[in-house]
Amino acid sequence: MPPEGRAAARKKAMIDLEAALSHVVADARRLPPRRVRLEEGRGLRLIEPIVADVDSPPWDRAMMDGFAVRSADLVGDGRSSDASVSLDVVVDLAAGDASTLAIRPGSCARIMTGAPIPAGADAVVPIESSVEGTAGVHAGGVVRLVDPKFRAGQHVGLQGCAFRAGAEVLPAGTLLTPAAVGLAAEAGATHVLVVPRPRVAILSTGSELVAADAVPRFGQTRNSNGPMLAAAVAALGGEPVALGTVVDRPEPLRAAVAQGLAADILLLSGGVSAGDLDLVPGTFRACGVEKIFHKVRLKPGKPVWFGIFTRPGGGGRCLVFGLPGNPASSLVCFDLFVRPALASLLGWPQGRLSLPRRRARLAGAAKGAEDRPVYAPCRLESGDDGSLVAHPLPWTGSSDLVGLAVADAYLAIPAGVRRAEAGDDVEVVMLRDDFDGA
Ligand code: AMP
Ligand code: MG
Repeated sequence: MPPEGRAAARKKAMIDLEAALSHVVADARRLPPRRVRLEEGRGLRLIEPIVADVDSPPWDRAMMDGFAVRSADLVGDGRSSDASVSLDVVVDLAAGDASTLAIRPGSCARIMTGAPIPAGADAVVPIESSVEGTAGVHAGGVVRLVDPKFRAGQHVGLQGCAFRAGAEVLPAGTLLTPAAVGLAAEAGATHVLVVPRPRVAILSTGSELVAADAVPRFGQTRNSNGPMLAAAVAALGGEPVALGTVVDRPEPLRAAVAQGLAADILLLSGGVSAGDLDLVPGTFRACGVEKIFHKVRLKPGKPVWFGIFTRPGGGGRCLVFGLPGNPASSLVCFDLFVRPALASLLGWPQGRLSLPRRRARLAGAAKGAEDRPVYAPCRLESGDDGSLVAHPLPWTGSSDLVGLAVADAYLAIPAGVRRAEAGDDVEVVMLRDDFDGA
């Protein structure tokens, strides 16, 4: 961000959403890499490629339960046959056995899936292809095999057919999905160099707040932002650090904020508007947090505050968000501003920092605002031609999570559009990457 842009942002009372987003992203840099145990790497991004230390499979491996045979005993010099053959069973091999016995012409091994193919053998005839009465034979017996579809080399996982020792099985930048964790384990990686999980401190301010297990008395409100923001952080791969609630008094607030500034991101909710007890901006200032912006042209979410705390002595930085207390406002601000910051710290690709936007046809009227864009919950449906149809959900405003809890997307109504009508072409911000058009 050029210094003059910064200065302008600080001076202006209220800024546009796009400007706010670019300030946030400009200040959110990927965290320094850390080596972690593979099991802790799920959902994180590799900084260093993973190179296999062995072939996979490490030796020729039986892929079916049956009999390990010499192909030549069944097909002669050809590749396939429907011939039947009787073979001496000379050894029983289960997964984990490491027999060195070689299979000579006219003999075979009884073998289980996962066992090494013995020397001399090069194919497996499945147990289902042994003739009734001989299917149960073990070492010392004779099996009669009829495999109408026999092909030389069948049902053998050849050494190194998946990957070779020395091969890069996972390049740098790969997201460690469950499959990638499995592959890394197979390749011998016990530790991985990744972008670590950002620590995100979550602090809910408000003397009225009580925990979810309390029945609110007159004047009290359950703290829904705390659990909601922790869930949102965890869903993206961050590590939520719950700091609980704090009353609207300067000293306890200041102590709690100071504690939160030890994290990579501090999410504080409530107390950022213009009320008498909206102590948060002053507390941030007193704690040495540099304000970048306060108030964005957005509905809901207008009071949102963003700043940076630089820890003394090169101790790194904390990105500080003051989110509005009303839960729907808090969530909209999380989705629009905190998510891109957290994703940047996690090293996500630039194009994936913000939620994806698509076009949709509006199924019913929805209210906009003259001065600000409105983000309202909607359900999506796939139209016959594959296009999207957006159904506005009932929504009473910035404290109402009922519609948001089942929303597929935000309906983004631009500033100046007082009312969007059924049939209008509108923009939607996708909340669910598993939206299946159902
Ligand atoms: P504030 O931003 O502090 O003025 O709060 C605005 C509204 O949001 C008030 O009705 C608060 O009671 C409510 N509120 C603030 N924090 C929370 C929270 N953590 N959970 C639920 N509601 C909250
Ligand atoms: Mg409050």
